[in-house]
Amino acid sequence: MTLLPKNLVLATHNAHKVEELRRILGPRLDGIELVGYDGPEPVEDGETFEANALIKARAAFAHTGVAAIADDSGISVDALGGEPGIHSARYAGTRDDADNLALLIERMSGVENRAASFTCAAAFVDAETEHVETGIWPGVVLREAAGGGGFGYDPIFQPDGIPVSAAELSADEKNATSHRAIAFGRLLDFIHSR
Ligand code: IMP
Repeated sequence: MTLLPKNLVLATHNAHKVEELRRILGPRLDGIELVGYDGPEPVEDGETFEANALIKARAAFAHTGVAAIADDSGISVDALGGEPGIHSARYAGTRDDADNLALLIERMSGVENRAASFTCAAAFVDAETEHVETGIWPGVVLREAAGGGGFGYDPIFQPDGIPVSAAELSADEKNATSHRAIAFGRLLDFIHSR
């Protein structure tokens, strides 16, 4: 018996993420309709990416009654003890990508250890199931921004094994290796295997 949902609510208000996720998920939806979510945003008071992804998916499922998927993501910098981590979206106190980027460049000024990683936790919630998968994209923090693609910290993140910043990759190149593609690839494997 297949338990594939007919519709999936995508519980994010972030337009960049919606676009990335439509590209990542599109080829593997097998007839499942991906619908937008414009209900209330829950308080993200979890202490991990996984906890916050579940909070968002639960809220969307509770509001719509439709199976929901959500992600929580961010950049964790080794030399900063893992910060900004789950606080990535509001690192500079605003939700502004340019402010966050400028603050991270400043905090990393003069720092030799540039190692960092993006993490994405992807959650699925319906009446029977709660499930989370995680993807990690390792790399380094650049000293200055490069490239105009992507969003958030992409211009100052260079993935391991790639000679340019994440913002210099095409959407398809980013989606071939990113934390979000890994996490949602695994989540779709789970959804299809139920
Ligand atoms: P969230 O909506 O709470 O998951 O916020 C995630 C934040 O982490 C975003 O606002 C970005 O600043 C950052 N972030 C997450 N994923 C990416 C990415 O793929 N590229 C660049 N920044 C990202």
